[in-house]
Amino acid sequence: MPTLATCHCAAVRLTCEAAPVEVTECTCSICRRYGVLWAYYEPAQVRIEGGATEVYEWDDRSIGFHRCVACGCVTH
Ligand SMILES: [Zn+2]
Repeated sequence: MPTLATCHCAAVRLTCEAAPVEVTECTCSICRRYGVLWAYYEPAQVRIEGGATEVYEWDDRSIGFHRCVACGCVTH
C-alpha cells in the first residue's frame, strides 16, 4: 500500500490503497484548532504503522484524536 500520510517526524505512517476522493474540513471546536482535512476510510482499508500515539477524547468519548508521542502531530 502507498503511504498516504505521516506525522512530522515520520514515526507514524498511514497507508491505504487509494488517496481520498474527497476530504472534510470540519469546523467543530477541536478540528478548527487543529486545522486538518479529514479523509474517511473503513478500518480494513487503511494501515497505521510505526510510532506510538496518544489519544485525546472528551465528553462522550465517541471520537479519539491520535497524535504522535514524539512530534505531537495529529495523525488520525
Ligand atoms: Zn511523529
